[in-house]
Amino acid sequence: MASRAKQRVLLGCALLCAAALPCADSSRLSAAESQAQPSVAAANFPIASAARLAGDGKQTRFILDLDQSVTFRAVTLADPYRVVVDVPQLNFQLPAGTGTGRGLVKAFRYGLVMPGGSRIVFDLTGPAKIASSHVLEAANGQPARLVLELEEVDRAAFAPSVASENRPELRPAIAAAPPATVPATADAAQQKVDDRPVVVIDPGHGGIDNGTQSSGESEKNLVLAFGRALRDRLEKTGKYRVVMTRDDDTFIPLNDRVKVARNLKAALFVSIHADALPRAEGDAQGATIYTLSDKASDAEAERLADAENRADAIAGFNLAEEPTDVADILIDLTQRETRTFSNRFARLLMGEMKSTVRMHKHPLKSAGFRVLKAPDVPSVLVEIGYVSNKGDLEHLVSEGWRSRAVGSMAQAIDAFLAKRMATAGAGPAN
Ligand SMILES: [Zn+2]
Repeated sequence: MASRAKQRVLLGCALLCAAALPCADSSRLSAAESQAQPSVAAANFPIASAARLAGDGKQTRFILDLDQSVTFRAVTLADPYRVVVDVPQLNFQLPAGTGTGRGLVKAFRYGLVMPGGSRIVFDLTGPAKIASSHVLEAANGQPARLVLELEEVDRAAFAPSVASENRPELRPAIAAAPPATVPATADAAQQKVDDRPVVVIDPGHGGIDNGTQSSGESEKNLVLAFGRALRDRLEKTGKYRVVMTRDDDTFIPLNDRVKVARNLKAALFVSIHADALPRAEGDAQGATIYTLSDKASDAEAERLADAENRADAIAGFNLAEEPTDVADILIDLTQRETRTFSNRFARLLMGEMKSTVRMHKHPLKSAGFRVLKAPDVPSVLVEIGYVSNKGDLEHLVSEGWRSRAVGSMAQAIDAFLAKRMATAGAGPAN
């Protein structure tokens, strides 16, 4: 079990550091390891017990009731217009249905964006400014309250508030690669280099980003359970070093997921999702395997990639200006080869999965998924089923189904990596 804790990818905490909250580098390991018992730690976080909106389309006030005062940062973002409030990790005990909009707020959501940090994201009906924001101490029988006053502005007036010097760095933490060692075991006390192929499993969404939801089930929870089961199955073989982009209910920005795979020079990246089809588009069922392409293979693939690529915006990140960190020509050459491998794995995966899992009528598709854009790591995104389909949802929550699906995936990964290692001539001795 200790190995799992050590292998857990440690995501940095630049975001909260930028927000001037305590977050020393040296505390990263312990912070990440302490995630293993979130329920224990949750008892100590400030409790948010109620949230309400008042006002109209000109002025809107947001109030959050707390059991103690907290520090926070509030900023406005454009494309789309949002207000983002970063607070220390809160224990949200808000009534079901909290998040409905009013006035300048279309809707709002809240949740964990990283260990130690929660966030509230407001979708706005149009440009607005934060006229005032403060925390009121508890007094006269009233609890402590976080108060945000929003005022309508025109487009021209909106821009300066984003560029103000108070703007925190709303950029995600860069994923730190865990050390390339195997943890000491009872038999071998000394550490040695772990040269096994790295498989990165990427459960989609998390924290403030629930993904699709249906019948009380959240995509983020379903895919985390699936990812953990796949990790356990692969680790049991002892052939791979398996790393999860997230192993708890934390939000991880899309680019950080890609960076985990790149920093570890992963042999394979598998992103796990569970889609839902908008009611107007009828019903769809079965698993679909996606690879990266510039042009979507069909309209549904394009819609899905757009939806998945919105994850960062949902969580309140602005990443439009994300720079590329490798020369374009190099990316182009490497990427062509990588795509060949990605497609090979996708076909292998379909071959294995179709014997145990109901597949979509067109099970192999491609589109411009941001999470598949590592130029040097073969990557696929698997929609394991439709949360919106009754039959699929029954599968998705069934342990028997999960076990069979995970078994097929593990077999495809085995077949793919056995061939790759043999071809590369650098296979680990096993
Ligand atoms: Zn998803």
